[in-house]
Amino acid sequence: MKLTRVLIIGGTHGNEWTGARVVTQYQQRFIQKYPTLQLEFILGNPKAFEQNRRFTEEDLNRAFQFLNEKSETFEHKRAREIKARIDESPCFVIDLHTTTSNLGKTIILSHYEKINCFVASALTEKISDCRVIGSPDPQKKYLASQSPFGMMIEVGPIPNGILEAKALEGTLEILDGILSSLSTLPEHLNGAMEYYEEAQDQHYPKNEKGELSAYIHSEFQGKDFTKIFGDYTPFRSFSGTDIQLKTSEELYPIFINEAAYYPQQLAFTLCRKRILQF
Ligand SMILES: [Zn+2]
Repeated sequence: MKLTRVLIIGGTHGNEWTGARVVTQYQQRFIQKYPTLQLEFILGNPKAFEQNRRFTEEDLNRAFQFLNEKSETFEHKRAREIKARIDESPCFVIDLHTTTSNLGKTIILSHYEKINCFVASALTEKISDCRVIGSPDPQKKYLASQSPFGMMIEVGPIPNGILEAKALEGTLEILDGILSSLSTLPEHLNGAMEYYEEAQDQHYPKNEKGELSAYIHSEFQGKDFTKIFGDYTPFRSFSGTDIQLKTSEELYPIFINEAAYYPQQLAFTLCRKRILQF
């Protein structure tokens, strides 16, 4: 399969500075290193980046599902522009994100196309602490889902609105790994991919007024991708009580204490570990 056009988008969330800096500061490095690829770098949400906010009017990385609706928010218009760029010709889309949770070096697949699985499994072989999350997106709300070929990168933990060496260099390492795979694709893309598929969201405990009544337990903070089976204690209430939950299968939490998910009171997501033969 020949797919040489690659769109690299950073700053889709304006307060995630790592991706924004990668697309503005590292273009020449990658263009020179991968001359057989046609690389296009895009600053996803320049207005939100200028204001150091996740978005100005609506989340750009959720706006794509509503493209047919009449809306004139900045993000809606930006989503249409980015969608038009993606639709110009077949391309692989890489959307760069960071998280306040302890995900380490992570890539997220929404489509299990062979090429996506091949690139993902090659990355986990090349980078020993890189993991793959499967997040099917049937409504195509994510930017990276606008092409069948592509993935999101999530690196953390890092606070919003700062640059930090580990996250920046980890993102560059993953991006380099993806481009290296894409520039040397074999004719037959077969193999196996270990990944964590999102299974259920866990929300914060609430009081009778619907307000947050607990926080992430100190023993649970940072335990992303750590196996849970049976009883576990993810929360401590503001009155000091530990809150226990139970699972009847092996599950792995991700996005524990992600800052952007407080408005939905989403505390973390539980995943199943799987292997996909492709
Ligand atoms: Zn993001």
